Amino acid sequence: MAKQQHVFQTEVKEILDLMIHSLYSQREIFMRELVSNASDALDKLRYEALTNTDWKLNGAEIRINTDKDQKTISISDTGIGMSFDEVQENIGTIAHSGTKDFLKNAKNIKESPELIGQFGVGFYSSFMVADKVTLHTQKAGTSEGVLWESTGDGNYSIDSVPRAQGHGTTITLHLKETNTTEDKPQDFTDEWTIKSLIKKYSDFIEFPVKMKTVNEVPELDDEGKPIEGKTKKEESDDTLNSQKALWLKSPSEITPEEHKEFYSHVAHDWAEPLKTIHFKAEGMQEFTSLLYIPSNVPFNYFHRGSEFGPELYVKRVFIMKDCQDLIAPYLRFVKGVVDSSDLSLNVSREILQQDHQAQGIKKALVNKILKELKTTLEKDRESYVKFWNNFGSTFKEGIATDSENKEKIEKISMFYSTNSDELTTLQEYVDRMKEGQKDIYMLTGDDLDHLKTSPYLEKLKEKGYEVLLLTDHVDEWVAESLTKFADKNIVSITKENLDLDTEEDKKKSEEELKENETKYSALKDIIKKALDSDVQDVKLSNRLTNTPVCLVQASNAPSARMEKLMESMGQKPPKSKRILEINPKHPVIEKMLASEKETQSDWAEILYNQALLNEGSPLKNPHEFSEKISKLMMN
Ligand code: ADP
Repeated sequence: MAKQQHVFQTEVKEILDLMIHSLYSQREIFMRELVSNASDALDKLRYEALTNTDWKLNGAEIRINTDKDQKTISISDTGIGMSFDEVQENIGTIAHSGTKDFLKNAKNIKESPELIGQFGVGFYSSFMVADKVTLHTQKAGTSEGVLWESTGDGNYSIDSVPRAQGHGTTITLHLKETNTTEDKPQDFTDEWTIKSLIKKYSDFIEFPVKMKTVNEVPELDDEGKPIEGKTKKEESDDTLNSQKALWLKSPSEITPEEHKEFYSHVAHDWAEPLKTIHFKAEGMQEFTSLLYIPSNVPFNYFHRGSEFGPELYVKRVFIMKDCQDLIAPYLRFVKGVVDSSDLSLNVSREILQQDHQAQGIKKALVNKILKELKTTLEKDRESYVKFWNNFGSTFKEGIATDSENKEKIEKISMFYSTNSDELTTLQEYVDRMKEGQKDIYMLTGDDLDHLKTSPYLEKLKEKGYEVLLLTDHVDEWVAESLTKFADKNIVSITKENLDLDTEEDKKKSEEELKENETKYSALKDIIKKALDSDVQDVKLSNRLTNTPVCLVQASNAPSARMEKLMESMGQKPPKSKRILEINPKHPVIEKMLASEKETQSDWAEILYNQALLNEGSPLKNPHEFSEKISKLMMN
């Protein structure tokens, strides 16, 4: 094929523009990205060679060459290479997820370039350090070489050019004049710089990363003794990485620095991992697993449909990343690798879904992670709270989705409560329960501060009963499954028939209630009539002290917040009318009793709207409400 000129897709131009012009101080990550691509290419070839006898993984290596005079650095691999079409597809279009996310976050990146490293920016990162990049590749099993070239200014050329070395890929970077950022001059043709970058980012890569280095060695005399003052240059071929798959080392041999490096590779987070879980399973399932609980929330963690799951290796052969079938979705924050001895090298995602070995691995991983989390809670609460603040809101989903481990998850779940500003566990709550307190109480809502002053708490506060305050989106849904702990019922305090009284209290309040029933019977009817389309019933209540009314839901009906959530997800739940409870002891209700019938109907509307505000729901008709308030003020 003849040489062709092409224009980059608009999106690619945008990415390149950001790469070239952002003031990113860690340009060196281009090395990590290119070496990782080279290693992927070797992995792919090895994998293909298992089934395709024409393809051979001979002399698998990644090689770095530099030319100080030309100011170039090249990274070559003897991997699978790319065909003409594949180069077109892969380099110049944005088909892969890393760059798509990159674009979505373009604005943030402009403001804080340190985010660049979080994205799988891959090949394009070359343009951070180079003003011209050539890629020369040949697909294994073919004899046609492809030369791709670009200066990153919007165009690239692509041509058929034979590749003398055979299959594999060479990427040559023509380095920019200055690759210095303020205080950090970096010469990427410098041997020492390259060595330290490979160590830093690619030490665990299984294939050797090699470089010819020239060392100054003493010249020797005939007897083999060094001649004083005389040296000669000697070339040696060095392997720069240790190549040892970290997870195969014994845990005691791995240094914190090695963990940090590996964690940054699998999690794209440059901090220390919060927790490391390294274990070898023997017996039914044989596998080694090195997992991390991240110390930061990944930028795309809450995107629906984000990929998750460990990388899968079979006997050190990389198979695939994001193995969702090896971990429960509520543990999707976990990063790392699983290296199995039992799975077949041909395992695909589809097979993985049904494979009982894979299910066994998943079960073992989930158990292990839950156990580690439990130990962390017991031994290192500070870390646990950090974990909880980052991932608790999704971890809790397990209460509703993993019936097998529900109890374990409940035991290590944390909640805010009226007890203090600190998170508490259910067991700690139970240990603090007051004498006479029958149930565990909870209240859900959007905002912790609002919940703390909620009128629903009035009576419970009076009794000194603690209430769990749940503010995460998933709580409404999780709460449906969170029904019992340590033989105590977990009760929402916004449901009707909240039973807080002791038998003795009950007798007393029943008498009082009877008296009030007669006294308020007519008023109740008027309120009910006025609010006929909004509430299903009006009841006298003793749950309130300082508030005249509140809305509660029938014991089997979804909460107001649950309805709102369902609506926000595009569903149309049947509107369940709620019950208006009125506090007969409140002066407003007493005053209402003594008012004109017409005033009573107006007030019923106002009180209903107040109840809506108190539970965090929008007003039925804000304009009507404010008119009624104005009218009231004029009286
Ligand atoms: P990513 O690696 O995140 O997919 P890149 O932009 O780095 O994104 O690369 C895009 C694609 O180009 C890769 O998925 C791969 O198919 C191909 N590619 C890149 N480098 C090489 C290489 N050295 N050998 C073979 N294919 C490569």
